[in-house]
Amino acid sequence: MKYIVVTGGVISGIGKGITASSIGLLLKQCGYSVTAIKIDPYLNLDAGTMSPYEHGECYVLSDGGETDLDLGNYERFLGIRLTRDHNLTTGKVYQRVLADERRGAYLGKTVQVVPHVTTTIKDWICETAEIQVSPKSTNDICLVELGGTIGDIESMPFVEALRQLAFEKPSEVCFVHVSLLPLLQSGELKTKPTQHSLKELMGLGISPDFLCLRAGKPVSESLLDKLSVSCQIHKQNIIINENISHIYQVPLLFKKQGFHEKLLEKLQLLSPICDLKDWTILSSHFEKPVTQKIAIVGKYTGLSDSYLSLIRSLEYASFRENIGIVIQFVDSEDIDWGSVKEADGLVIAGGFGNRGVEGKIRCCEYARKHHIPLLGICLGLQMIAIEFARNVLGLENANSTEFDEECVPIVTDMSPYCQEIKGGTMRLGLQHIQVDNSRFYESSVTERHRHRYELNPQYYEEFEKNGLNITGKSFTEGKSENAEIIELEDHPFYVGCQFHPEYTFPNPIFEKFLTKTNQCF
Ligand code: GLN
Repeated sequence: MKYIVVTGGVISGIGKGITASSIGLLLKQCGYSVTAIKIDPYLNLDAGTMSPYEHGECYVLSDGGETDLDLGNYERFLGIRLTRDHNLTTGKVYQRVLADERRGAYLGKTVQVVPHVTTTIKDWICETAEIQVSPKSTNDICLVELGGTIGDIESMPFVEALRQLAFEKPSEVCFVHVSLLPLLQSGELKTKPTQHSLKELMGLGISPDFLCLRAGKPVSESLLDKLSVSCQIHKQNIIINENISHIYQVPLLFKKQGFHEKLLEKLQLLSPICDLKDWTILSSHFEKPVTQKIAIVGKYTGLSDSYLSLIRSLEYASFRENIGIVIQFVDSEDIDWGSVKEADGLVIAGGFGNRGVEGKIRCCEYARKHHIPLLGICLGLQMIAIEFARNVLGLENANSTEFDEECVPIVTDMSPYCQEIKGGTMRLGLQHIQVDNSRFYESSVTERHRHRYELNPQYYEEFEKNGLNITGKSFTEGKSENAEIIELEDHPFYVGCQFHPEYTFPNPIFEKFLTKTNQCF
């Protein structure tokens, strides 16, 4: 197994995930099987209990793992299916070390960060790297992305473990350090923060093989010379990742600089031709003029990463359908009706708690009455049902017990299979959905879930009698029926999914949605 470790310097959020995914894509297009591990040095066991404002969306895997959004990038770029073990956190490492301690695995010893925690990390990485992530083949190369920035206290045991790994397997591990050259208002790019982060990394025993620089303008030869000498990295191994208009250009930018060839040479692997023909066509789609506006209605609109998978799914569908789209965010707590009325299609995003719920319900009502295509995801399905119960069935106070425990009538209620305890207790991961008489689904599907509440079966009949059909159902333990897909009759596209289609990429439902938005106007 070969490992490419991606670390970050200066600040977080400079695109380590896209860098790692783009490297992976290039190597995959050279014919290698690539897998990926994300390390998040925080203490939480997983991303399930964190607000999307902290780290962006919580991405859900087939096995129900609630993970960092970078796992979504890897799955989409590399066409692989990952497991919860592919997202390593300090919480998980310590949980394993402490369980081992209780079992007596360290009897007689003092349990320490070095060697016990670091050995656990190395074992975890090496075991997970072998997990087969595509039906076709075993893995050749494993990307390991270390979250946060070098120098964070939490990441120290991981840096130490990665240093040891490289020492033990010198021909199998290489390091890529992603850093930022801040651009001053005067137009000057500054190298000092990058030099400092390199110094810090080298002080921890890691001398990266490649430096990948984010820069707001072209980097001059003299700056490259300066960085090469001070960072001890050959000039040809400094890759420039200039600001570009969309992320689909990053692999092309890397290929132009021969990044994949240099990495393969370092790892002593053959360098076959890297075929990016399809990717080039995909990338050029995003330079086309925009013809449609899609509004995402949600409460985390202050940070677009909160809806990352949704954005990528819509973008990919726009490419497939050859429709230029622009995505606008509408804050469900303070609806900008101008944007809603301008939109050619609305997506009601998922979410938790009652903040912004009434705004989402009003958007559902608007789209229902004005025949605007609408896709309601998870909480979005529940919003469709509550609005329909209130305004069509005449159940004025219809609500969910998630927002009002005492509400009557209860249209959505806690699933009998979920608990109040928050961490990892939702209905999570892949579930089979039986589809009947759908206008938009041709056959049954298997989709990823992340929810605690579901429609009250008491209202299924009334909904259907009034034109809101339940066209997808799942069966928990063979008996109780859960409404999974709802569709309104006499409307171009008014669909709710209890699952998250954005976590199964690519998902044809987004194409169906966009074709309808296109036809309506
Ligand atoms: N809060 C809702 C539930 O728990 C919806 C969750 C979601 O949108 N992911 O059922």
